[in-house]
Amino acid sequence: MINLVNLRFYGGINEIGGNKILLEDKDTKIFLDFGMSFSRIEKYFEELLRPRTANGIGDFLEVNLIPKISGIYRDDLLKHLGRRPEAPVVQGVVLSHAHADHANYISFLHKDIPIYCGETCKYILEAVDEQTQRDLENEVLNFKIRPLFNKDRKNPPIKRQINTFRTGDKFKIDSLEIEPIHVDHSVPGAYGFIIHTSEGAVIYTGDLRMHGAHADMTDDFIKVSKEAKPIAIITEGTRIDLKKTDESEQKVYNDSKKELSKNKRLSIVDFNFKDVDRFTTFYKMAKDLNKKLVISFKHACFLERYHRDKKLRTPDSKDGQILLLKPKRLTGTYTEEDYTDWYIKKRLNYPNIILAEDIAKNPSKYMVVLNFYYFNMLVDLKPKNGTYIHSLSEPFNEEMEISYERMHNWLNHFDVKFVQSHCSGHICGPDLYELIETINPKSVYPIHTEHPDMFKKLKMKVDIVEDGKKYEI
Ligand SMILES: [Zn+2]
Repeated sequence: MINLVNLRFYGGINEIGGNKILLEDKDTKIFLDFGMSFSRIEKYFEELLRPRTANGIGDFLEVNLIPKISGIYRDDLLKHLGRRPEAPVVQGVVLSHAHADHANYISFLHKDIPIYCGETCKYILEAVDEQTQRDLENEVLNFKIRPLFNKDRKNPPIKRQINTFRTGDKFKIDSLEIEPIHVDHSVPGAYGFIIHTSEGAVIYTGDLRMHGAHADMTDDFIKVSKEAKPIAIITEGTRIDLKKTDESEQKVYNDSKKELSKNKRLSIVDFNFKDVDRFTTFYKMAKDLNKKLVISFKHACFLERYHRDKKLRTPDSKDGQILLLKPKRLTGTYTEEDYTDWYIKKRLNYPNIILAEDIAKNPSKYMVVLNFYYFNMLVDLKPKNGTYIHSLSEPFNEEMEISYERMHNWLNHFDVKFVQSHCSGHICGPDLYELIETINPKSVYPIHTEHPDMFKKLKMKVDIVEDGKKYEI
């Protein structure tokens, strides 16, 4: 019998998002990531038209949001569909990082399929778990048996088996040896992998970049990958079509600080709190400008876990420079009974809680981290003539354009100055060509990209992948 390593891709094909890669070597099968794809969801669903939890995985399977493979899904979800439970045929999921498009559809997988991820990645998944409402699409760490009857609601969730690693640790899943190496991305605890198969090394990049604050980590990954003399690389290509720019974390700091030091009123910033580098950038800036950094209770869930990870060197949520903004709920009087969410309730005794009304009395003293979805709080914050730093990517689809316009309406309403200042989490075209040429694999499998053809510029074998098709290496 000829042993071949087979790859199947169930996402990230001609799209940005939703990586699910099945790697098969003899009797060992593993998934590299098992994420949700925003672009596939948007093809059929929108805000008020959602996959029905009442139909379990039925709606997801129907429109190919998840692959039609036997032996991977949860017993309860299969039974719900009128099917028999299936013993798991996949021995593990190797998770590159905690972004939803790589992690979230682990929710649907059989409880006996173990998950392998970085320690910090697990911290982030825990923070997400703590402050989001349980939903069929976000039960990564644990899940509740469906259908979920009232009598069972209080039952503890079923925990998945999560095995964590640090960079350079090697671990085995059956016959496969897997070597995770840290990479720089817009979330800490991100890894690329060298998978030692029976045919040779297969490299999976996960998401990465070479222009970030920790570019040296990506360099480490390139070095180890090259030494492995890989037979194949599975690579992201989110920004393969973009040229090199002068973007950097330092530039975000410099440009934003310049704007905010001119501003004599309220400073508002928005960035993704999963991005610890960006948090550090604005935390440092607040300190340098002698302002308090005001975060939400949701942000506190993340910050407290980052703080536990000594390598990240981040402050605790009760740090002297940090304040927690108490949201207005139910009665609008900030009385204790208004707060039923556990993640808020258990932090109500913190000494550093502030109200929007207090910030409005002395706006120049504060830098408020405020996401667009909480812009109704601007009514209480009264940010007249303030400055808003949008430290996120610019809109790249129609739905985002509409929100973007609404965001500008709010800012214009309060005469708030808009400033765009961001540094992407993804590698640009020239850097990616260089990365692949340096690693020098025998073949290239581009995923997570809308421009797979652009990889043909490389002077090596490039396989443009199709959904569900088997590729033999
Ligand atoms: Zn990512």
